[in-house]
Amino acid sequence: RAKSHQRSSFSYFTVDMGVEIRERVRMMHALRAAFENERLFVVYQPQIDMRTGNAIGAEALLRWKTEDGQFVPPDQFIPIAEYSGLIVDIGEWVLRSACFELLELHKLGFSDFKMAVNVSQAQFSHPLFLQSLERALQDTKAPANCVELEITESMAMTDPELLIQTLQHIQHLGAQVSIDDFGTGFSSLSHLQKLNVDKLKIDRAFVNEIGDKSSEGSIAKMIVQLSQSLNIKVIAEGVETQQQAETLMSYGCHFAQGYLYAKPLTKLDLRNWLSSH
Ligand code: C2E
Ligand code: MG
Ligand code: MG
Ligand code: MG
Repeated sequence: RAKSHQRSSFSYFTVDMGVEIRERVRMMHALRAAFENERLFVVYQPQIDMRTGNAIGAEALLRWKTEDGQFVPPDQFIPIAEYSGLIVDIGEWVLRSACFELLELHKLGFSDFKMAVNVSQAQFSHPLFLQSLERALQDTKAPANCVELEITESMAMTDPELLIQTLQHIQHLGAQVSIDDFGTGFSSLSHLQKLNVDKLKIDRAFVNEIGDKSSEGSIAKMIVQLSQSLNIKVIAEGVETQQQAETLMSYGCHFAQGYLYAKPLTKLDLRNWLSSH
């Protein structure tokens, strides 16, 4: 009985895997076509100084709208882009688009506005990454000190030596580095200190917990305290309620991004939003 059960679960698993691989390959081709046909675009979510309500910058987020008008969520297609290597070209394009828009915003008078761009592991560890960053900054004439690269904690763990070198080079170019989704990746604290990053982004999951009786936002509070003792800036992601904002401020976190303030906006909507703010 146990044996037949084993066999059936095994065949179920392979069938399922075949579907999954076929689906991934289909999506990879569709993504490449979308990129080549310029059906990918970048939206920008404002980042706020909660003390003043002013926007300090924005995070560039990639969007894919298929020909039949459906949006594919980044959580679905970014892993495919990473797995297929497409992320290297797509990521470079996002970076250049974001740098270009940053300069436009500065020209419109939003000086000091910062632009954060997500960078995947596969991009970051690519031998030509630093060169493409340098070229993006040169070609677009975006001010490097207003460009912030978001890396994840898991990247911080794979190859520490390479990471430290790459970060030093990025800082030499004048750009900033933040750790995205902080608190989800189990990076060691001594390692964090060595990395010398500029900012931590508190993962949305910990912001979401604020107000729960069981947790009382204790992890978010710990991350704020950690950033203070390491002298690193901190921003909360996914702030949706006034209560979350107030609690975060009481912890000493002054920067936030979330639906409470604005959803990710197209570049024209961002310009309008900033003008009317
Ligand atoms: P992320 O970098 O952590 O981005 C924050 C995500 O939280 C975004 O999801 C944003 O739309 C969402 N968000 C912001 N505020 C709120 C809120 O108040 N409530 C809720 N429920 N969600 C909020 P999005 O745009 O779907 O992106 C998901 C992930 O895909 C990103 O997470 C990032 O890891 C990845 N991604 C997006 N664009 C790029 C890109 O250009 N390159 C790379 N490598 N990854 C990207
Ligand atoms: Mg991010
Ligand atoms: Mg995040
Ligand atoms: Mg994320």
